[in-house]
Amino acid sequence: MSFEIFNLNPKVLSGVRAQGYIDPTPIQAQSIPAVMEGRDLIGLAQTGTGKTAAFVLPVLHRLMEFPRGRVNALIVSPTRELAEQTCENINVLGKYTGLRAISIYGGVGADAQLRGIRRGSEVIVACPGRLLDHVLKGNLDLSHVEVLIIDEADRMFDMGFLPDIRTIVKCLTKPRQTLLFSATMPPDIRKLVLEVLRDPVEVKIGHAAPVESVSHALYPVKPHLKTPLLKELLRTSDTDSVIVFARTKHRVERVAQQLQRSGYKVAALQGDMSQWQRQEAMDGFRSGSLKILVATDIAARGLDILSITHVINYDMPDTTDAYTHRIGRTGRVNNTGEAYTLVTNEDKEMIRALERIFKKPLETRQLEGFDYSAEAAIPSDAMPTRTQYGRTRPGVRNDRQPAQNSRPRSSNPERRPTNGVNPPKSGSTSMNQISKSEGISSERKSPSPARKPYFRRESMSAR
Ligand code: AMP
Repeated sequence: MSFEIFNLNPKVLSGVRAQGYIDPTPIQAQSIPAVMEGRDLIGLAQTGTGKTAAFVLPVLHRLMEFPRGRVNALIVSPTRELAEQTCENINVLGKYTGLRAISIYGGVGADAQLRGIRRGSEVIVACPGRLLDHVLKGNLDLSHVEVLIIDEADRMFDMGFLPDIRTIVKCLTKPRQTLLFSATMPPDIRKLVLEVLRDPVEVKIGHAAPVESVSHALYPVKPHLKTPLLKELLRTSDTDSVIVFARTKHRVERVAQQLQRSGYKVAALQGDMSQWQRQEAMDGFRSGSLKILVATDIAARGLDILSITHVINYDMPDTTDAYTHRIGRTGRVNNTGEAYTLVTNEDKEMIRALERIFKKPLETRQLEGFDYSAEAAIPSDAMPTRTQYGRTRPGVRNDRQPAQNSRPRSSNPERRPTNGVNPPKSGSTSMNQISKSEGISSERKSPSPARKPYFRRESMSAR
């Protein structure tokens, strides 16, 4: 099936071609016709399935008929990163349409956004809080909005945004088309659907099950050996870009610092960082100059980076949905990915819950040559366990060698570590700065299988 079948406006179709998309993804195949017809829609799909284009393309098509210079479509996103990515997608897919999109979110000055609003845009992509600020101050007129898209609604609920969503909906006075996308459908989201959607079409892609293009492995380990095992996994795996998830902001900072000290090019991404620091971390990771991003769930939400080969759960997430969202960062279009989860005795229940979702046991692995019996001996750089957290008794790590000695020698000069590791700034808890050294080894014990395409995308050079 090609995109021609939808009869999209030719200017929208040109954007699709310029992006190199050939075949619609399943969520696009099912959503685009219904949205073009003006139907309300519930899209049950996670990121990585092409869900953004599933609403962007038919909405651009519809907006071609609307008067210009006023806000006709509003997309509400849970995070700034997702808002930016969606806005970028609209501007890229819509580059021949003359339609303009801007993003609006908190954590940055409002003036530039205000200038963007005043220049006139047909599409606004916004996080709820800052959007309401602008509306309540009279900066933004939503009275012409005829298409509302609520993206990642379950995340919105997790982050406590549902009251804001309801307020936003009340500001929309015109009859409208409403689209709601969510990876899962908890009761509160069902309730919202009943309140704000009219006779919606429901499109479901792969339910909330983790994407098929990802292989999953559990690595049982004692809490005090998590960091050494993480380093060993990084050393022995064929990784490109890696996201490491830790449970708290503090743990994110700590793990990032430990990896940085070992010479890895790493950034932390957690909610206490300023927008500028977050952007710097994301840009470094996206460009590939930083190979590892250590993040909390909320900070990494919606991150759309195609080259992520590995998601490593330093800590098991608290819910199966959070696992699904984390794993959705890898195995994206045209890629396969690997998900490693470091598990301790405390995680048994979550493992059972995940296995119920997978409908099969998860593979458990032991890393050959790793000293699983090493004792907790040095109380310096340790990670407290979940139950210990907040108390003074820390866990311990066994990797006391200097960073350079603990790394294998790389035969590839591109990948060989240098000596210029930047120590974390003293007194600063945000460690989004970049190590100047390269710590990922080119010695690979277990090369990954060849990547199999999930769906086709024509390379730009082929055109
Ligand atoms: P999303 O699920 O919207 O975050 O999309 C994930 C990635 O898939 C993005 O990088 C999109 O550019 C890409 N993508 C979306 N639709 C297609 C398509 N039909 N063919 C190839 N790539 C696509």
